[in-house]
Amino acid sequence: MHNQAMQIPRFFFLLISLLIFISCQNQDSEIETETEESTANENADLTHLPFGGPKVLIRNQGDPQPDFLSLWLCGLPSNGAGNADASDWTNTDGTWDYTRKPQVEGNVNWLSEFNVTLDGNGNRIITGNALPDHATGVFPIDPTSVAYQYDGNPNIISSHEVEYILPAMPEVATEASCVSFGPSGISLTGSAIYHGASTLGNDAAAHEILDRFGGHTDGTETYHYHFPAQDLQDHINPHESGHSELMGYMLDGFGIYGPNGEDGEILWSEDLDECHGHTHPILWDGEMVNLYHYHWTYDFPYNIGCFKGTPL
Ligand SMILES: [Zn+2]
Ligand SMILES: [Zn+2]
Repeated sequence: MHNQAMQIPRFFFLLISLLIFISCQNQDSEIETETEESTANENADLTHLPFGGPKVLIRNQGDPQPDFLSLWLCGLPSNGAGNADASDWTNTDGTWDYTRKPQVEGNVNWLSEFNVTLDGNGNRIITGNALPDHATGVFPIDPTSVAYQYDGNPNIISSHEVEYILPAMPEVATEASCVSFGPSGISLTGSAIYHGASTLGNDAAAHEILDRFGGHTDGTETYHYHFPAQDLQDHINPHESGHSELMGYMLDGFGIYGPNGEDGEILWSEDLDECHGHTHPILWDGEMVNLYHYHWTYDFPYNIGCFKGTPL
């Protein structure tokens, strides 16, 4: 009798200990999952992105000022070209799916030249040959490829002399400036950053067929980016935690960073101002400075809405 009375409480004690152990294990694994998500930031939904076409404002066609979530162009070229049919990667709700859009395949290597120096007199001197320091897809687009069924981009990639003299410490201008066609900035890969519209005035990233770095070429034979593809981000500087690192310079001298904000959260255009940037302390030439800067985002206008400073 005495022995049995002792065994029952002991059994319950073991059972309760086991239950506590199991519930702690579950809590631990939940905490680990949350931490992984908030540091790796691989949870941006690229399957439902808004088309930017209706957000293209054109100054010489009656849009006198920039606007939130929009791209303020100075004008549209008369000889626009490119793909206008995105129906095969358009969702029923009217958004587009980056993961369903074909890419320009291939790995063509280039001899890139790119240099950024400060002259000590307040200028940042950027020189190079405009070729990227990573492989690109095959251009002109191969007529036998899937990409060609949508976009017959017939242009090659060639080198161009780059020489930009930008302010080392740019300032916000009294009024924003509209954005012209051609380079809006230069990536740290050595190649151009173009704004978010095609020469047809639609959302370039949603329509044009790009390679895995988010780039392609045009009638000026200039390789350039329209989308912050993961391969481009990882190539320049893989994001680990906190604010994204610098990815390039826009032509008013302000920097452009990847899609992650101060707490490592993914930024969308609605988090930024009408020019697609904001001001807070950032690492700038090795020092923390409270400075305006642009961000690449996964939604239109992707990189610049207007020039906040004074463009070249
Ligand atoms: Zn383009
Ligand atoms: Zn920022």
